[in-house]
Amino acid sequence: MNILRRSVHCICIAALMKLALTPPGRWFREYQRRHKINHFVALSAVFLILYNEYVSHWLQSTYWPQIPVSITEEDNLKVLFVTDPQLVGFDNEPHLLGIITRYDSDRYMRRTFQSSISYVKPDVVVFLGDLLDEGSISSDQQYQIYVDRFRQVFHEAYQTKFEPVFISGDNDVGGEGSDPMTTSKVQRFEKYFPSKRVKTAKFVDIIDANIDLNKFATEIKKDLKNVATQTDDKQLKIVINHSGILYRERYVLLNVIETLKPAIIFTSHTHVSRLWTCPDCYRNHRPNSIHLKVDRLTSNKFQTFPVNNDDLKEIVVPTCSYRMGVPDMGYGFAIFNKSGRFDYAVLWQVQRYPQLWSYLAFLIVASVIKLTLFFSNRSRFLFR
Ligand SMILES: [Zn+2]
Repeated sequence: MNILRRSVHCICIAALMKLALTPPGRWFREYQRRHKINHFVALSAVFLILYNEYVSHWLQSTYWPQIPVSITEEDNLKVLFVTDPQLVGFDNEPHLLGIITRYDSDRYMRRTFQSSISYVKPDVVVFLGDLLDEGSISSDQQYQIYVDRFRQVFHEAYQTKFEPVFISGDNDVGGEGSDPMTTSKVQRFEKYFPSKRVKTAKFVDIIDANIDLNKFATEIKKDLKNVATQTDDKQLKIVINHSGILYRERYVLLNVIETLKPAIIFTSHTHVSRLWTCPDCYRNHRPNSIHLKVDRLTSNKFQTFPVNNDDLKEIVVPTCSYRMGVPDMGYGFAIFNKSGRFDYAVLWQVQRYPQLWSYLAFLIVASVIKLTLFFSNRSRFLFR
């Protein structure tokens, strides 16, 4: 131990003597060289942060579809769909890392939502469920914290012409796998995210189908019939549900068609952007002979859909969270027109994981440069 201490002591004295004996000119040149590299590293860090946090978001927004200037206030309804934000919770994240992951995920959604809503200026924002990742398993105290965070992230949704529409997902109230849906979970969700089953916005009825596949078919039908009494046949009927309807049990699909007669269905849950089409749903009521077609919806442009046709379409809106295991995130944007057609596009967002990898790569490179400088300087002082 003494030998080690003496060695360290000797190295320190040698270094100090070398430093003191170094000619001032060389010292100054060394100072300049090191500071040039330090400045370069610092400047690169600033540019990387500016690009990832600001420029990339602005560049991405230049790909969003142009909103037609000819649309009038009264004849159109602009709806922004938000799906599966799944705000990161406390229990499923590592303790210290969780502080960073919750912060970054919230910040990413806040930024992307803010820019999307200021671009769209929607009449109403519709949340299609799975708002909180651990909503179904959290304590009341945790739930309150999650709700506060949710309101901060999606603050602008509460300031549109119509109140936001909320429906629950399995992460909010259970109902999938071994996590049961209970009355208390549903009541807690409804307390913090109040929303009517039928929401009227201008000429559109937004109907929450709230299909619970754990119920008997007769119960589902009775519930849908009850909801149908709250709708107006003169209104354009849009059905929303967290999980898919067209590709699930046929009896559910036929019940929805028979009772609610939707012009279009919007769902979420699978995190990817899809368009399901049932060309013969309104003519064919035999469950086993219904045909379905599925397409990816990946375009940056508006797609125009005529509604009130014979076919029935279901749009699956992609997730807005980068934590969902899919590479592409976005918000669904629809402009419904009184004439009976609507335009739909996804406002695709910046991929976050490549940005996080770029920060990690930068940290590694910067550390290697700093260490190389440190050791090269030390050896120069000691052995020259
Ligand atoms: Zn879900």
